[in-house]
Amino acid sequence: MLSIIIPVYNEFGNLQTLYGRLNSTLPEQVEFIFVNDGSTDDSLNLIKSLARDDDRVRYINFSRNFGHQLAVMAGLDHCNGEAAVIIDADLQDPPEIISEMIEKWRSGYEVVYAQRVKRKGETWWKRWTAKWFYRILKRLTDIDIPLDTGDFRLIDRKIIDLLKEMPEKHKFLRGQIAWLGFNQTKITYERDERGWGEPGYSFAKSFRLAIDGITSFSALPLKLLTLFGFICAIVAFLVMVYALYSKYAWEDTVPGWASLMTSVLFLGGVQMIGLGIVGEYLSRVHDNVRRRPDYVIREKNFD
Ligand code: UDP
Ligand code: MG
Repeated sequence: MLSIIIPVYNEFGNLQTLYGRLNSTLPEQVEFIFVNDGSTDDSLNLIKSLARDDDRVRYINFSRNFGHQLAVMAGLDHCNGEAAVIIDADLQDPPEIISEMIEKWRSGYEVVYAQRVKRKGETWWKRWTAKWFYRILKRLTDIDIPLDTGDFRLIDRKIIDLLKEMPEKHKFLRGQIAWLGFNQTKITYERDERGWGEPGYSFAKSFRLAIDGITSFSALPLKLLTLFGFICAIVAFLVMVYALYSKYAWEDTVPGWASLMTSVLFLGGVQMIGLGIVGEYLSRVHDNVRRRPDYVIREKNFD
């Protein structure tokens, strides 16, 4: 059996079409797991009515908005398939290529991810930030996280079980899956426009995901900071030598206000950045120590 995992946040106008398109392309043996991530529109009622007419439809309703990554994780935690496909609810990921994913999976790949060669109907800002995020992430980390690839993918049961074992709070599933290894392959597709509604990933949410991705998979920001600190210290030392020399050799008592201000401000800035970066890592340690559940389920239509 194949599980289809669909995180839903205010997708009322898309769900019926998505369900129809999935149905016309998928084999008989599937289960749908809709995870309603605190939608404020009528998405939940629509999912419930789908579930009434089709007993392959299961749903999980969160107690509030927990974010896309945790919605996907909840789906993975509760699915029964020998493999799962993660797909956005907004029709940006074409369901029709799932059959291609299944073929590759049958031929022995544990992960089949979908790489977008083109993104339609998204703002230049979104495309540009996404493009650079994937490239910077690739530089910063040691693992091979594929470029321009979201969570639209098929993963084998082995991968699902291993993901469930990974206790980290700040999920970055595409990174965790890359980290796991196994046989991974890709298929390429052109990303469609969103069918209906507004993106649920605000800039702030995307930015958090980017920071989670980087801090979960790289200590390079911390290392760069140390390096930067050393460079500043060396420069400061040279300036000090110069200042003392000029004072005693030339009895030169130039006020030096400008240089003083620049160096104080510069060093202050560097320290602030440094504290900020350390703080990001520290807050993640704190979140992991606290051991709260990842998400809270209000209701679901299965055990
Ligand atoms: N989503 C979610 N929780 C959120 C934001 C988004 O479950 O807080 C879902 C959304 O319903 C969609 C998928 O995650 O199925 C991708 O969201 P979106 O289309 O906003 O992201 P984008 O395509 O802009 O990256
Ligand atoms: Mg979208």
